Amino acid sequence: MAEILYFENPYKTEFEAKIVAKKELKEGLIGYYLDKTYFFAESGGQLSDKGYINEFEVIKLIKEENNILHCIRGELNIGDEVKCVIDKDTRLDYSIQHTAQHLLSAVLEDRYNAPTLSFHMSEEYSTIDIKIDKINSDVIYELENICNNIIFSAVEVKTFWISPEEMDRYKFRKIGKFVDKIRVVQIEGIDISMCAGTHVKRTNEIGYIKIKFFEKIKGGLIRLYFIAGNRVIRDYFEVNNIINYFRRVLSSTQKDLTERIDLFLNSRVQLEKELQKTQKMLIQEKLLHIEKDDKIYIDFTEGLDKKLLSFYAGEIIKIGKDLVLLYDKFYKILKIQQSNEQKFDIKNYFDEIKKEKNLKGGGNNITYLLDGIDVTPEEINLFLKNMVKN
Ligand SMILES: [Zn+2]
Repeated sequence: MAEILYFENPYKTEFEAKIVAKKELKEGLIGYYLDKTYFFAESGGQLSDKGYINEFEVIKLIKEENNILHCIRGELNIGDEVKCVIDKDTRLDYSIQHTAQHLLSAVLEDRYNAPTLSFHMSEEYSTIDIKIDKINSDVIYELENICNNIIFSAVEVKTFWISPEEMDRYKFRKIGKFVDKIRVVQIEGIDISMCAGTHVKRTNEIGYIKIKFFEKIKGGLIRLYFIAGNRVIRDYFEVNNIINYFRRVLSSTQKDLTERIDLFLNSRVQLEKELQKTQKMLIQEKLLHIEKDDKIYIDFTEGLDKKLLSFYAGEIIKIGKDLVLLYDKFYKILKIQQSNEQKFDIKNYFDEIKKEKNLKGGGNNITYLLDGIDVTPEEINLFLKNMVKN
């Protein structure tokens, strides 16, 4: 059993300890037990610390009952005094995200009657799954404001221990697992929870909370994605870069940006319609010059989508051809169609090719389409030969 010291001082990131036991683990890892440790091991939604023991990087930290197993790829001896360094920035970042979660969950429960059912932290953002009656951007805006005002007020975050007998004296938002004593985390007047994680000492250290977005998940729950502290600054920088890019390419102000994008998308739809019309006219022009004698028609096109290829193939069959093979180089689509006399075994032959090359598409023995295929004129000839043989 080690002395777990981050409970008392989550800001201490350098310490010396003695190795008291070790065990061989999988994949060349060796796990060490220390007489005391400030390292936090993943639990309660919070991620494990990063750091070093002597010159060895800590690969994994495993939480056990009353102990922490420190896993490295390096040989150390029982009795060795080792120097431990916890990555300060990561510890602070995780403590900030975790404290932000307490605050968000407390405000959600208190003001919106929305309990938190689970919490998950990742390197990019954190999530909480909540049960809430109504949620929209107005609710998010208000929720963020309430939380950020508490952050700016620099409310103290206290941690202390109580015995299970004292439990009734507190109105806990979150009740966790405990053995002989209970660790309490209290944001004065805002939240009181059982929690074994690391937290900041005052809410102003959180800096800022930003809810990035929310989504509906299973069981009628809502998942909120949020960031806090420096993550908000980094995110703002990224978002601002994206906005500036769009401002530049669309010659727009930030305020007009959504309107400009809508206009741009609408004009694209119009242009596509125009293009389709022109391409149809070009196809009809081609039809006027087709050799009538040949019963098989082959063409390589560029920029005709599925719809236009179908139109093109249909028109060719109408003028009396037995079989048409069209390949569009841009869309990588092969369209095959034959007359109702069905002189060729299209379906069986192209089903084989589709399966062999793992392609999208399909069809029947009259009309068939293969999507995502590379075809050369030589291959078209090969297709023809084989279909006739079949
Ligand atoms: Zn906590």
